[in-house]
Order: sequence, then structure tokens, then C-alpha cells
Amino acid sequence: MIQFTTPLSIRLGVVGAGTMGSGIALTALLADMYVTLYDVNLQMLERAWSYIDRYLARKSRSSNLSRLKLTSEWEDLGKANFIIEAVPEDLALKQDLFSRLDASCPPPTILATNTSTLAVTAIAASAQHPERVVGMHFFNPAPVMPLVEVVRAAQTDTATLQAASAAAKLLGKTPIEVRDIPGFIVNRVARPFYGEALRLAGEGIASYEIIDRIVRLGGGFKMGPFQLMDLIGIDVNLAATQSMYEQTYGEPRYRPYYLQVQMVQQKALGRKTGRGFYLYDAEPTFDDPPRPPVGLGAKAAGEQAVYIAGGDWAPGIAQACQQAGYLLAAAPGRGYLALAPTPDSVGLVIAGISEGLKEKLASLERQLPAEALILCQCADVTLMELAADMKAPERLVGFDGLFFADGQVATLVASPTLTDRARQAAENFIASLGRLPIWVNDAPGLVLPRIVCMLANEAAFAAGEGIAEPDEIDRAMQLGVNYPKGPLAWARELGLVRVVAVLDHLHAELGEERYRVAPLLRRWARLERMK
Ligand code: NAD
Repeated sequence: MIQFTTPLSIRLGVVGAGTMGSGIALTALLADMYVTLYDVNLQMLERAWSYIDRYLARKSRSSNLSRLKLTSEWEDLGKANFIIEAVPEDLALKQDLFSRLDASCPPPTILATNTSTLAVTAIAASAQHPERVVGMHFFNPAPVMPLVEVVRAAQTDTATLQAASAAAKLLGKTPIEVRDIPGFIVNRVARPFYGEALRLAGEGIASYEIIDRIVRLGGGFKMGPFQLMDLIGIDVNLAATQSMYEQTYGEPRYRPYYLQVQMVQQKALGRKTGRGFYLYDAEPTFDDPPRPPVGLGAKAAGEQAVYIAGGDWAPGIAQACQQAGYLLAAAPGRGYLALAPTPDSVGLVIAGISEGLKEKLASLERQLPAEALILCQCADVTLMELAADMKAPERLVGFDGLFFADGQVATLVASPTLTDRARQAAENFIASLGRLPIWVNDAPGLVLPRIVCMLANEAAFAAGEGIAEPDEIDRAMQLGVNYPKGPLAWARELGLVRVVAVLDHLHAELGEERYRVAPLLRRWARLERMK
């Protein structure tokens, strides 16, 4: 049995000197290991050398270059006791390689594959000693991203898994052990980030730019989904989705979407082809407009009264109104925070949805002055459903309350007969709370509730299937793809009951099995209700 205790106890062989292989070799050199980097293509070896040389020079670690051997001689791999394969994502190619590695590098050498989407079990099957084959899924750029998914194939033995995890730690990475299922944790749980964004654009709810902006400024993600697909390569991203769809025999959550397929058909693959969802003739800037200043602007505080009805679906909004100088007071009744209108006031109502919303809206409509704007949270109801029951929907605006508290934007939806005056009043009000108003078309789950609740749902499916512990899944998403929060912790913060309500609403409105709630998520939501 092999045990890795120090960097020098590892003699690393890396097969494939492309993006990932050169990055993994560099990571190992930075960790003071000896590395043999093998490729069949001499040009790729040269390119890898200049990349590694430049990086080490920048870090003043050029002396570590002496530990690197670049080679196209297969025999040189025989001296390694730990091999990581990073050749193109092609099962036949990898199987051929592992059967040859198995013959040339006998046990106890550990053989690892960096595959993103192929079954490690199928790759291991080509070896005579499959128990020493393991998945080690690094993230791009390998020297920077801290996560390594250590994948246990059906044949992998515990000693191999432990050795791979120990090696990952010696490489300075955080290993997370995961079962061999399509997409492992990160690529699997991240699918809705792209899939739901593509559908939102395809359904005409908002443009790529608007969706990206809402995701960045409202959700705190470093990049919007379209920006990120352009960076990854739209073809690479589609191939991952397609592979997961095929390996799961058509799971609807992974079904590819025509919009992405058409991009690939046009060879608009993202940054690498100069055109993807964005144009890269000149370096595009993804600068967002500044956040508006908090406050009532020209209007003196006290002139406007805000009514907040049942704000439980819009946490943080009452405080934001108070900070902006609106008059606000608790009134009797279920969840009301309200102040009677003064004759010169502009009445604004923010209805956080709870049971009996439609009745509440009807009674508010009767009580409010005719010019009062009605803003209604609509993450789990379409605005049309509410407008259809109102006498005067021309003053009704929907908004995403769920992502209001932490966001720099507020997503707004106009009722079909909204007046210009009401539209302007809604924009002014949202801006006075220090949020950028962004309009989208009416849709179940709007933008962030749909994307984030589907991320949480996918994470809950994975946890329910025993792929990894919930905390591990959350950690993997933060370390592997830089998510601002782990999807499951995020769901608990939003309220599991609300997350399930958003998903049930999506399922009911869109009628697709894709939106069915993960059994574990529903169980957790019921537990939350009991508390
Ligand atoms: P790449 O195309 O940049 O590099 C592949 C390298 O393998 C090339 O240098 C090629 O010459 C070499 N090669 C081809 N056949 C070979 C053979 N028979 N023997 C030795 N070398 C051979 O690919 P990449 O992006 O580095 O991806 C490699 C693997 O890593 C894939 O399985 C991919 O799914 C996975 N991966 C990629 C990323 C990413 O973001 N690029 C992230 C994680 C995992």
C-alpha cells in the first residue's frame, strides 16, 4: 500500500500537457514535487514549458523548474508512483491509455483521471488492477482553484482513495470525496445555473445582459451565466450537459436547450472564437451601473407613506424603507406594517405573499387611494394571476422579494396595463431604497428565485442520493466554482418552505418534470414548518 506523507514522497507523472495537465504540473512544482509531464505533441510540451516558466518566474520560484521533466518518451512515466491523466475527454482514448499505463506502471502506483464527465468506473475497467484507479477532478485554472473532487469508482479501494486525498492535500488543495456519478458534485449541481438562464432567455423573460446583471448584482455571483459560458466555451459547456443527459438516460433536469445548440452550430463558442453570447471584437466590459443613493431625493422624509403587507416573503424591505426615510409603523393585523395615508401622501404597498394574498390585495385595493402604487412580491406567483383578480391592475407592479435584502438590484414585473406614471413611481421608489430597478417579463420564479432554487434542488437531489454530505456539497460549490454561498445553506437562509413553494410553482406553471422537488428538500421543508 502506498502512502504519501511529504511532497517528495510523490513522483508525479502527468499525461497530457494541455490546459489542465500543464496547470496540474505547475501546481505540483509549486508544492515542491518532482514532475514528469508527458505528451504525444511536442508543440504542446513547448507551450506548457513556457507557461510554467513564466508563472514560476513571476512567483520567484524559477529554481523549481529543475524538478520538471518534459517528455514524449512513454518509458519515462515508469518512474512515477502517482499518475494523473489529462488527455482530451474521449472514453476510448482514456481507456486505451489506462490499459497501457496499467501495464507500464505496475502497482502500487496510483492512476488518476482528471475527467470532468466520463464514468471513472468505465475508465478503470480497462485496467488489470482497477482498484488503484481513482478520479481526481481539478478545476481550471488548476494552480488557483482550491478544490479537487476525489472520485471513488465502483472498483476503487479505500487505500487508493486515501492516497489520492493525501496527494491532493500535499498539492495544497482541498479534497472532497465523491461517488462516481455523472458530473460528480460541482458539474452536476451547477447545471441549473446555465440551464435555467438559457431557458429564461429562450422564453423571452430577459436578455442575456439583463440576466447576467441580475445574477451578479442581485445574487452576488462573480459572473453571470452567459458571461461564464462564454469563458468556459459554449461547446464544452454543452458537451457536459449532453454527457450528463445521456448518462442518466434522459433526466429532464439535464436536457440540453436549443439556444445553446444553435450557438455551437454557428461556431459562436465564446471568447475563444471571438463571439459567443457576447462579442469579443474589443474586450467587452461587464461594468454595471452604480447603485442609486439611498433616500427620498427631493422629497422630504415623511411625505410618503409605505404600507407593507405580510412582508415575510420580502425580508429586509421594511428596514430598507425606514433607512430611506419612509414613514412606517406596525399596524394590527396579520403581518401588517402600515401607516395610514396622510392626504398628500403617495401610498405604496408592498405585499409579501402569504396565505390569502388575493383577498388581502382585494381589501387593500378598496382601502387605498386610487393613485397608490401596489408593489407585490411575486417569486411564487405570476403577476398575471394577481392582476386577473384586481379591479385596477394598472397600478400593480411585481417584484422579487426573496432576493431583495442582499441584492443591489430589484427585479420588477409590470402588469399588462401598467400606466407610465405607476412605472415611474415604482422605479423611483426602488431607487430610493438604494436598488437598481430592472424590469423583466412576467414568469414563474422570475430570475434569481428560479436559478437559485433549482441549484438548491439539484444539491438536495445529490445529498438525497448520498453523493456527499450537504455541507460537503456546499463547500464544493464555493471552492470549485466560487459561488457566493453554498446552495443548501442559501436555501435554509431563504426559507426551505419558500424554496419548495417556488419550485412547486415552476412545476405547476411549466408542467415539466424538470422542476419536481427533490424528496429530501421537501422533507427538510416539512421539518422547518414543524419548528
Ligand atoms: P487540452 O486539449 O487542453 O489538452 C489535452 C492534451 O492531451 C493535449 O496537449 C494533447 O496533445 C494531449 N494528448 C492527446 N492524446 C494524448 C495521448 N494519447 N497521450 C498523451 N497526451 C495526449 O484538454 P484539457 O482542457 O486540459 O482537458 C483535459 C482533461 O481534463 C479532459 O478530460 C477534461 O474533461 C478535463 N478537465 C478540463 C477542464 C477545463 O476547464 N479545461 C477542467 C477540469 C477537467
